Amino acid sequence: MRIVVLTGGIGGARFLLGVRAYAGEVEAEVTALVNVGDDLLLHGLKVCPDLDSVMYTLGGGADPERGWGRVGETWTVRSELAAYGAEPAWFGLGDKDLATHLVRTTMLNAGYPLSQVTEALATRWQPGVRLLPATDDRLETHVVVSGRSEPASPAVANRAAELDGGQRAIHFQEWWVRYRADLPTHRFVFVGAETAKPAPGVLEAIGAADVVLVAPSNPVVSIAPILAVPGLRDAVVDGRAPVVGVSPIIGGAPVRGMADRCLAVLGVECSAAGVGGLYGGRSAGGLLDGWLVAPEDAGTLVPDVTVRSAPLRMTDEAATAAMVRAALELV
Ligand code: GDP
Ligand code: CA
Repeated sequence: MRIVVLTGGIGGARFLLGVRAYAGEVEAEVTALVNVGDDLLLHGLKVCPDLDSVMYTLGGGADPERGWGRVGETWTVRSELAAYGAEPAWFGLGDKDLATHLVRTTMLNAGYPLSQVTEALATRWQPGVRLLPATDDRLETHVVVSGRSEPASPAVANRAAELDGGQRAIHFQEWWVRYRADLPTHRFVFVGAETAKPAPGVLEAIGAADVVLVAPSNPVVSIAPILAVPGLRDAVVDGRAPVVGVSPIIGGAPVRGMADRCLAVLGVECSAAGVGGLYGGRSAGGLLDGWLVAPEDAGTLVPDVTVRSAPLRMTDEAATAAMVRAALELV
């Protein structure tokens, strides 16, 4: 059996722990198609937050408390950069994490595509799952906001927004990490999406899949940028494999993170029904055959989609593997 998973960072990485555990029982092969919309250049280094969250988590090197970055991390370089006043100061790179970005950037500069670089990095981490970036091309999520670029305080920011009603686009990471998604926000733009191509192996993996799972990742900024790669969404929707999504929203709230703020920008209700409806039923041109929601959301209706409920809190690997089993039983 071949399982393909569309995934973002932290939520997707935890889900993949369960997929890997399940796959071990039934001898399935797993390919993760990972969002690259969060990727950015920092201090000249290429940082791929979602690929790294997945790689560190599956490789046993992630910080379980923080959810991102390396366990046992130190921050010497960050303090040294701060002493120089180097910007951006709002994105901290740990010392251990930096080694990943140095190796990645060196390989990219030598001409290797991101998919090959990811494979090379994974030889160290042995994630047990094939990791593929959705695309090797630049595809960055930007956010169109109003307001001045460097508010000194919330009050100043409000005044600046009044004075200067102009809109500007900032990188998703700046919106998320620096501003905590707390700016007047108009829309998301996947820069480069029109010309991006699926990374080598992506369409083949989808074509060979027996089932495609949509991880309980952020639908707006983790899953949507993957589907924005031309040809990728069509391959999933027109493919022979059934598609099952798992809700990241339980009882009307994200389990963690700020998916509610992203959904609000799209005018989509923050609920299992809202996200299910956003993905849509496959027979009506949407993505899903099945939608797994939490027991709290039992009774959720999504037109043209089979909805079932099961416990969806990824408290440990066994609970998450049970969740994966429930998702696969749906189709
Ligand atoms: P990011 O790229 O690091 O933001 O991570 P993802 O997009 O992959 O995952 C973020 C989403 O995971 C959030 O919207 C959370 O609601 C969801 N999430 C986190 N933990 C859980 C959990 O235990 N169960 C479910 N169902 N969703 C979760
Ligand atoms: Ca992410």
